[in-house]
Amino acid sequence: MALSDRLAGLTIRDAREMLDSREVSSVDLAEAHLERIGGVDELVKAFVTVTEDLALAQAARADERIAAGEAGPLTGIPMQLKDNMSTRGVATTCSSRMLEGFVPPYDATVTQQLHDAGAVLLGKGNLDEFAMGSSTENSALFPTRNPWDTDRVPGGSSGGPSAAVAAAECVFSLGSDTGGSIRQPAALCGVVGMKPTYGAVSRFGLIAFASSLDQIGPITKDVADCAIVLNAIAGHDPRDSTSIDFRPPDYTQALRDGLDGVQLGVPKEYFAAGLEPGVAESVREAIGVLEGLGASVEEVSLPHTGYALAVYYILAPSEASANLARYDGVKYGYSAQDAETMWDALELTRQQGFGPEVKRRIMLGTYALSAGYYDAYYLKAQRVRTIIRREFMDVFERFDALVMPTSPSVAFKLGEKTQDPVQMYLNDILTMPANIAGIPAISVPCGLSDGLPVGLQVMGKPMGEEMILRVAHNYEQATGWRHKHAPAL
Ligand code: GLN
Repeated sequence: MALSDRLAGLTIRDAREMLDSREVSSVDLAEAHLERIGGVDELVKAFVTVTEDLALAQAARADERIAAGEAGPLTGIPMQLKDNMSTRGVATTCSSRMLEGFVPPYDATVTQQLHDAGAVLLGKGNLDEFAMGSSTENSALFPTRNPWDTDRVPGGSSGGPSAAVAAAECVFSLGSDTGGSIRQPAALCGVVGMKPTYGAVSRFGLIAFASSLDQIGPITKDVADCAIVLNAIAGHDPRDSTSIDFRPPDYTQALRDGLDGVQLGVPKEYFAAGLEPGVAESVREAIGVLEGLGASVEEVSLPHTGYALAVYYILAPSEASANLARYDGVKYGYSAQDAETMWDALELTRQQGFGPEVKRRIMLGTYALSAGYYDAYYLKAQRVRTIIRREFMDVFERFDALVMPTSPSVAFKLGEKTQDPVQMYLNDILTMPANIAGIPAISVPCGLSDGLPVGLQVMGKPMGEEMILRVAHNYEQATGWRHKHAPAL
């Protein structure tokens, strides 16, 4: 079979085997993916930048490493990075006018780690501007489309990375997740996405949205690939002061164990009104499969879940308003040229450089943090955050992991929710509690509803990545969803 026909289900392990047996070279793999990008990305629009020359140069170097017997698990594997992760010498835009043409002089820690591992960068993935959104329609460049149905959104904000993996334009990608931005698009595109424990992966070089919630994680074709990518990026980084000081295990080892004796909780609040019946049905069925595999399953209650959205939309915009204050048109990025005074220049730069959703967040956050309102909003939200986190910790005394849907709906039509921010915000109602509590969570495909992918979400204890990988992997191996790919484009 021609290499181009084999890309659809091609995992990191498949590619590794082909590379190690010299069936293909890394340059062949890079070329096949670049060709695929050339063929489908005009429609999918998952990439904002394609780094063809860099990819071919890195692939040639990877081939030398392979020839010298120095290949690691990711050497020669084609990948993409979300365009809010710094790449030295390669434009990093956050899909914002504000960073149009910005070429960072440094690599994010994850970029460096993956380059050291020998992975090959094909380009940068589209996102909602500054990662604010759930459909990639807030990208200032163009929306990305869902490879399962190009009239529909891929989810967001990591819509580019999820669509790229689903459309086999790369073997894996990295996303960032502040309230659900890895898991929700992974669910809507039928791929695997994981948000690790807060602090388990370095945020150095990730362009900040809400620093107490942001986490980088893998977007892959299956759970074993997720563990392989996590192996490459997890661990302590002295350049990120919130990074946890720990020695990461080999996450692939966690996939060996079955589910006998594993205690799973099903939080009833995650099956409330607003959940599409097709999603509820697929997830209930998936929970039945887990039970059949030996896990014990019991309903639990996390009564403060309903406050998570409100807490998130105080905390995230507050942090964003502070983080985005740096874009003043002076040091880098967009700079308005038609201003007379310094203050005009600052105002015009921000007026013209930011899109409407980013401005909405800055205004919300500035209001919540302003004198007189700080106690009523920000401080109160912090207190409720503590309650939500404590509630999770109590439940984890009895359970190894929690299972629930990732997103309340399957992929929706482009334009369907753009006029109603609250409808859009509700997309992340099932994912943001994990960010608020700082715990790890993974989304794994668990069925189709009306021909569109549904995601099963597994949340774990802090540093409980091994357990959620194990649960997701056992589920995945017992079912055939990983073999269902986005229909040929
Ligand atoms: N959709 C949520 C938001 O708009 C979450 C985004 C994210 O996780 N980056 O804020």
